[in-house]
Amino acid sequence: MNQLFDKHGRTINYLRLAITDRCNLRCQYCMPEIGNKFVERKQLLTFKEMYRITRVLSELGVNKVRLTGGEPFVRHDFMNFLEMLSFNENLEEINITTNGVLLPKYLPEIEKLNKIKSINLSLDTLKANRFKEITRQDSFVKVMESLDYLKSSKKIQLKLNFVVQSGVNTDEIIDFIELTKNENIAVRFIEEMPFNGVGQKDFNQLWDFKTIIAHIQQHYSVIEALSSVKSSTSINYKIPTYKGTFGIIPAFTRTFCNDCNRIRITSTGMFKNCLFDEGVFSVRDFLRNGANDDDLKDLFIKTVHHKPENGFVAEANRKVSLISESMSNIGG
Ligand code: SAM
Ligand code: SF4
Repeated sequence: MNQLFDKHGRTINYLRLAITDRCNLRCQYCMPEIGNKFVERKQLLTFKEMYRITRVLSELGVNKVRLTGGEPFVRHDFMNFLEMLSFNENLEEINITTNGVLLPKYLPEIEKLNKIKSINLSLDTLKANRFKEITRQDSFVKVMESLDYLKSSKKIQLKLNFVVQSGVNTDEIIDFIELTKNENIAVRFIEEMPFNGVGQKDFNQLWDFKTIIAHIQQHYSVIEALSSVKSSTSINYKIPTYKGTFGIIPAFTRTFCNDCNRIRITSTGMFKNCLFDEGVFSVRDFLRNGANDDDLKDLFIKTVHHKPENGFVAEANRKVSLISESMSNIGG
């Protein structure tokens, strides 16, 4: 029975947990090439702490977890944690967001874990040179290996996260939709947000939802709108004869808050009611100061109750402006 409700009538059943703030890529839209501030290891939640937090939340009604970061696979022993987590009988789904660089060697093992239903592979281009420009690393071949493996997986649903970057990769939007022609892939075009670790760039140039859909409509005579589950962050479509689907995530213009069912825990254990808040309390410190599971439950129930109505309210309540944060520190 779910016990996590907010005062706006929303039920929370979905946790996004950041495994680490570190990453093996340096995507332009996420962090600077050098100088991103990573925390000391002891400030990160341990896997034991993550397990306990997830266990307690799952007893309050959370049944879906997304593991993200930073890059989850760069943390030593992530696979063991994944296995441990999948024994939690309250969880129905465990999904992962990854850049795919370290993924190939783990995929056969991951396919054996029943609760891993889908992997979101972040890929903003199909061109090796452009990949290097965007990510500042030369790992394209490894990511393509992950893509090929996941395309043929009968077990794992492949979702591709494509951050739409004005002046960088908008000419590939149609190429990505064409990937859905013969494969059951869900491509998701994400509005770029200003969380790049260095500060605001010119968001007048932003390719927002309207620009993206108008661009797609110019290329296809019929686009079918799909009905999505209530809490979906993407507005979904398909080209009628194509096997897969595509969606647009209005991450920056924030039109999906009404049905939000999510909370986040950062890699340092900050509890976030909203992507745009600055962290409501440190679960890590609470645990390390001796809180028991009932204390934790109490705190989660009370905190979720105050979940802000939407991302704009959350942003307005911040003490420090968020534009200089990196998505890898926030936990994407
Ligand atoms: N490293 C993993 C990856 O890239 O898939 C997981 C963490 S990453 C922060 C999670 C997602 O956030 C990725 O799909 C990434 O493309 C997206 N992301 C990062 N910075 C973003 C930004 N400034 N605007 C929109 N999406 C962003
Ligand atoms: Fe790393 Fe993901 Fe950020 Fe790219 S988007 S730098 S892969 S955390």
